[in-house]
Amino acid sequence: MSTPPAIRIENLVKRYAAPDGGEGKLALNGVSFDVPQGGIFGLLGPNGAGKSTLINILAGLVTKTAGSAEIWGFDIDEQRRNAKRAIGIVPQEIVFDPFFTPYEVLENQAGFYGIAKHLRRSEELLEAVRLADKRDAYARTLSGGMKRRLLVAKAMVHTPPILVLDEPTAGVDVELRRQLWELVTALNDDGVTVVLTTHYLEEAEQLCDRIAIINHGECIANKPTRELVDMAREKIVAVTVDSDLATIPQHDAFTKVEMAGERGVEVTYNKDQLTAGQVLAILQEQGLTVQDVTTREADLEDVFVQLTGG
Ligand code: ADP
Ligand code: MG
Repeated sequence: MSTPPAIRIENLVKRYAAPDGGEGKLALNGVSFDVPQGGIFGLLGPNGAGKSTLINILAGLVTKTAGSAEIWGFDIDEQRRNAKRAIGIVPQEIVFDPFFTPYEVLENQAGFYGIAKHLRRSEELLEAVRLADKRDAYARTLSGGMKRRLLVAKAMVHTPPILVLDEPTAGVDVELRRQLWELVTALNDDGVTVVLTTHYLEEAEQLCDRIAIINHGECIANKPTRELVDMAREKIVAVTVDSDLATIPQHDAFTKVEMAGERGVEVTYNKDQLTAGQVLAILQEQGLTVQDVTTREADLEDVFVQLTGG
């Protein structure tokens, strides 16, 4: 039997109420996906796609309109307490009481979860996020990066098997981004399943082993990162030939061949395996006289744009 998913989302719908009692905003329109255990899962999508809405439903901060979700096998409605205990969430917005120290922030959170004093890990967590030397500083005196790290520690207070980070690196500088990536990777190496939302393609590509793309409240792709990147490895040569095509040209190295009208052929191929010149040579070997050529190239950005239709 395969391992059950860390998170299972089925047909999740969220319609926010309109202030005037009208239709309201449909933020999630029937989203379904599983987050496998043990990996780093990226929920990628442009601003306004519905990422935070989805995370906030898991966090119990937003009430879903329809559908269901399970966290570590616990239904978020039926087994709310267990579901909450299985997940730690770092929200998109940084919010702290400015007069608490990092140590107090973690102790308060532990108290909130009813963790006995001798079982608390506040010191250890401060070490892990490299804030041990800020143990007793007021939260308001911390830099933006330190606050983010403190939020990660806070989310891990109850030792959940799943850590969710909502746009952890939106608007942060390169150095802090690197630090956060390291922290996330280290936690994942320790066995924590990580989910992060981002609108940075590159971030998802570098960090995540699986990526789901969400756009206008719909999940439009959900693949291992490798496969998404492979889609971007493809290149297209479109040719016009001098006479009507009797048969479709074929070759093992072509991933796809499509006719475009009577005299047009579009060949999709993997650019690691062939060059455009070789594609043309193959077509000519098959008796076609090429009159006109255009090429198109896809990178991950294109795949993303293609998928999001934007
Ligand atoms: P993302 O996190 O992907 O940027 P959000 O989940 O924050 O997207 O928002 C999805 C859509 O829902 C957006 O159109 C947003 O304006 C809308 N939305 C988010 N929160 C609320 C709310 N509290 N009330 C009404 N509409 C909201
Ligand atoms: Mg968001």
